[in-house]
Amino acid sequence: MDPYLYLFFHVLSHALLGAVIAYCFLPRATWKDLMICLCSGALCGIIPDIFGDRSVAPWSHSILFTPLLALGIAYLTKLFYKKTSFKLFWGSSILSVLFGHLFLDYMGHDLPAFYPFSDKSYIMGAITLGDPWIWFPLSMGLGLSIFLRNKSKLPIITSILFIVGYIVFRIISKEIIEQKVQVQHKKFLKSHML
Ligand SMILES: [Zn+2]
Repeated sequence: MDPYLYLFFHVLSHALLGAVIAYCFLPRATWKDLMICLCSGALCGIIPDIFGDRSVAPWSHSILFTPLLALGIAYLTKLFYKKTSFKLFWGSSILSVLFGHLFLDYMGHDLPAFYPFSDKSYIMGAITLGDPWIWFPLSMGLGLSIFLRNKSKLPIITSILFIVGYIVFRIISKEIIEQKVQVQHKKFLKSHML
């Protein structure tokens, strides 16, 4: 894939997952509220990368700094909503940064999850970022939910369940392949030692 296109879908996946999480929790009674809710969630989904790559700013990809990043966005969001409690924005923003960005990154590439206490990077490596099986269902779910306007969260919940199922499937496939490779490798070593 074209590297720019890959980057675009990578960022889109983060933004969509962040926005979808915000959609589940934040007020969206009017069009204005809906737009603020989606922008706030999408911003949470991409904020760790705004501070730079993991090699430049490892702290932004650490779960220990997630509440702090979310705090800034929650504060910004609260400026637009007067009646809703700040705790709700903070909680929702934490979830959007955590799942919309860090979880997705962890599934695709390495993550310094406990920086600065540990430099160890964690990676599941089950999906490639920009995977259409992530952004396509999410955009369909979000699109349908917006179209149905407040009547139902069903399309969005369905799209979340779909991508969770897909990720679990990818993790299991990866484990099976790795085990098979290990078995073959052992067989190969044995046959060459005899
Ligand atoms: Zn990232």
